[in-house]
Amino acid sequence: MIARLNSPDYDRWAAQIHRTGGCRQPIHLRGKVDHYDRDTGQLLYRYTTRTEPDGVLRLPCKTRRASRCPACAETYRADTYHLIRAGLTGGKGVPETVTTHPTLFVTLTAPSFGAVHARREQGGKVLPCHARRDAETCPHGRIMSCTTKHSPDDPRLGEPLCPHCYDYTGSVLFNALSPLLWKRFADSLRRHLAKLGGLVLKDLRHHLTVSFAKVAEYQRRGIVHFHAVIRLDGPTASPPAWATADTLTDAVRHAAQVVSALVPAVDDQPARLFKWGTQLDIRPITLAGDLTDQAVAGYIAKYATKAAECVGTLDRRINPLDNLDAYNLRDHPRRLITECLRLGAMEDLADLRLTQWAHMLGFRGHFSTRSRHYGPTLGDLRAAREQHARDDEITTGRLPLFDEDTVLVISEWAYAGKGYSLGDQIIAAAITGSRVPDMAGDAR
Ligand SMILES: [Zn+2]
Ligand SMILES: [Zn+2]
Ligand SMILES: [Zn+2]
Repeated sequence: MIARLNSPDYDRWAAQIHRTGGCRQPIHLRGKVDHYDRDTGQLLYRYTTRTEPDGVLRLPCKTRRASRCPACAETYRADTYHLIRAGLTGGKGVPETVTTHPTLFVTLTAPSFGAVHARREQGGKVLPCHARRDAETCPHGRIMSCTTKHSPDDPRLGEPLCPHCYDYTGSVLFNALSPLLWKRFADSLRRHLAKLGGLVLKDLRHHLTVSFAKVAEYQRRGIVHFHAVIRLDGPTASPPAWATADTLTDAVRHAAQVVSALVPAVDDQPARLFKWGTQLDIRPITLAGDLTDQAVAGYIAKYATKAAECVGTLDRRINPLDNLDAYNLRDHPRRLITECLRLGAMEDLADLRLTQWAHMLGFRGHFSTRSRHYGPTLGDLRAAREQHARDDEITTGRLPLFDEDTVLVISEWAYAGKGYSLGDQIIAAAITGSRVPDMAGDAR
């Protein structure tokens, strides 16, 4: 800290840190950018990191994971919000007429793999968790009842009433198969819409485009479920008259019920057929109704920055040789991870890559995805922001203004590390007003 504060280029270092927007683990790059005159080959301008503090340029890590870098995750969240919102209300290249297209907010859940502790509320009143009058006693001697009115931060929430009865195999296999189940759902939805419109599937795209924006959310019990915005568009503008919100609701309900994914019998376990849970929530999104575009965009963006760590698992890959005792996990996430490692070692299940994704409790899909037609992409937003920053550098005289047609720009970049020294970390937190991470926790 003392060396950094006393160094002659401290101000320039601090300016770099400012520009990373409080990133907790900036990427260090070494390199140069040369501007040549296309006709004469003359070097017009060179930017090199050699004159930067420590000879590197520090750039934000751009992670979406709030547990890794709160500042960059916040940028990602805000971007996701605007992308989802643009697909609902127009803007950023999406025509405003989308507001009139049938659009639903759909939640697809996982089935039950055993009774878990839950916080139940009704009319603002907290109800007992799992009250059963003639509660059964399970083969392990536990009474299958819980009359606790759990508080929202009760660590038992999402944990099974009896861990020995709980179907850990089913839970992690469902997570592993959920991307396939989603794909089958989307395919079935298109097929059923074609049928309702009296079309064959291959002709559907000439009449109707089905656009999705979806996000995976971990429930407390450690299983993913999906929230999706599903919108119908026509080939150019509005969808055909038969493609109403009711038609779409009908098709969603049908697709959610019929699709399944099979895990063949392996070793000691029988074949299993996985389907979506019976709790299917379908709600129309309207500009002024119960469920507004703002609410939906905010909801999806919030979950886009989370992963499995919110169920108490680890934020990084697990090596099968790791001693799980060292991580201080609660029993439930630990059993889920152990089950991933057990099944991951079976050759017949190798395709599910459960060992590599044990820290995600088996889920290896993307957290936040949008179909091609939904709206602008994250890349579009980032490019616009970079262009804005570049224009700013030019107008303030920090970058020369060259005519792009006559100048050849050649860049050379190399990765030179990431993150901060302990001393730099504390100064950076003070400069950007961000929180110094918990050292003990991060070192783990
Ligand atoms: Zn960052
Ligand atoms: Zn309970
Ligand atoms: Zn039991």
